[in-house]
Amino acid sequence: MSIKKIELFKELQNGVEFSCEMCGSCCRGFDEGEVYLYFDDIKRLADHIKLKGTPGLKKFVKKYLKIINDSFFWKEPDQKRGRTYKFKTLGFNFSGDDEHCHFLRDNKCSVHEYRPFQCRCFPWWQLLVLNKNKGNFEEYSKKCRGLQLLKGTFYSADTIRKWAQKEYEIEKNYFLKMKENDFKISKVYPFIPKEMLENEDY
Ligand code: SF4
Ligand code: SF4
Repeated sequence: MSIKKIELFKELQNGVEFSCEMCGSCCRGFDEGEVYLYFDDIKRLADHIKLKGTPGLKKFVKKYLKIINDSFFWKEPDQKRGRTYKFKTLGFNFSGDDEHCHFLRDNKCSVHEYRPFQCRCFPWWQLLVLNKNKGNFEEYSKKCRGLQLLKGTFYSADTIRKWAQKEYEIEKNYFLKMKENDFKISKVYPFIPKEMLENEDY
């Protein structure tokens, strides 16, 4: 997918106003979703809470993350058809009956400056803003007060497209790294504690 193919749905084509209302809804109740973290996210957060070096990363992963399923559609440049690949990635491990992020305190993100890219980018995820995904955006709007109000900072179509494109690039780079490593997450992230790697396919 190139940047040209990220076509925003009609309501976003002239840009839109949005501001986070700090309701914390997107940081809890993850029965239908996950927050993915990639290497830079993990390193930044681990450093912030003083978990340094490989032993620190190991502790961070054990305490805050879990291994989850991921997928990515990929077409080799010389092929007519692509396919969806399934593999593993790392995401937040949630807690409590309301499945909240460990870093949510009084409905606010306690690591705001260091939060993962997915949190930073919301709601301009490619999953939400692409032409064909309008239903997803409407579904998320039901729980996000900022999306209900649509007031505040103005985001142009170009800005929204850039966020979505960056998200796509991060996912693509992770996918390519996994592909290079035979889809073994333990090779890409050697600091994942052994007990989290249930079988050698990881
Ligand atoms: S890191 Fe912050 S913004 Fe992201 S889910 Fe956790 S509390 Fe929410
Ligand atoms: S659901 Fe929307 S308004 Fe609420 S914290 Fe998340 S981004 Fe902000």
